[in-house]
Amino acid sequence: MAIEVTYRWTRRLSMRIVKGGDVHVSAPFGMPKAEVVRFIKEHRDWIVKARKKTDERQKRRAAFYDQLPLQTKTQKQEAASRLQALIEPMVEKHAGIMGVKPAAIRYKPMISRWGVCNIKDKSISFSSYLLLLPAWCVEHIVVHELCHLLEPHHNIHFYGLMDKYFPRWKEARKKTLENIWMCGENALPLPTTITELTPN
Ligand SMILES: [Zn+2]
Repeated sequence: MAIEVTYRWTRRLSMRIVKGGDVHVSAPFGMPKAEVVRFIKEHRDWIVKARKKTDERQKRRAAFYDQLPLQTKTQKQEAASRLQALIEPMVEKHAGIMGVKPAAIRYKPMISRWGVCNIKDKSISFSSYLLLLPAWCVEHIVVHELCHLLEPHHNIHFYGLMDKYFPRWKEARKKTLENIWMCGENALPLPTTITELTPN
C-alpha cells in the first residue's frame, strides 16, 4: 500500500482510497508535513476499513464481469452480435422519437463504461457487458447515449431530456448499479458512505 500526498488549493485535509488500495491524501498548500503525517496516523482505522471496503467492491465488480467471458475472438463476436440484436431495435425506436441519428453504432468489450458517445463523429459505442443487465436498464443506457447527441454534458438540460425520453431513468440507473453491487459471494447492499473525511 502506498500513501500519496497532493498539495492543492483546499482548506482541509481529506483522503480517499484509490484503485488497488492506495491512499491519496489532499492537503492544503503550505501545511507542514508533520501535520499531514499526524492526520494519516490518526485515521489508521478508517484507512483499514475503507481499504477492505474497496477490496470487496472490486471483487464484486470482478464477479459481475466474469459472468460474461470475453477472452476469445469467438466469445467477443458472439457477444457483439447478441448485443446488436438487443440494441438495434432500441436505438431505432428511440432515435426516431428523439429525432436524432447516430452515424455509427459499435459494440466493444468495455469494462469501465456502459456506453460512450463521440459527439464529433456522432458515433456511439456500447459495452458488451450490457448483456448482463435487464433489458430495461440497457434501454436506459441507449437513451442516455442518444441524449448526448442533443446535449454533450451531464447538465440540467441533459437530465431534462432523460425525464422526457426515459422517465424512469433514475430507477434504471439504481438498478444498473445494484446489478454490480449484488454480485458475487460478498454481495452487500448499496453503500451509503462517502470515502472522504474531514479532520476534527
Ligand atoms: Zn453520459
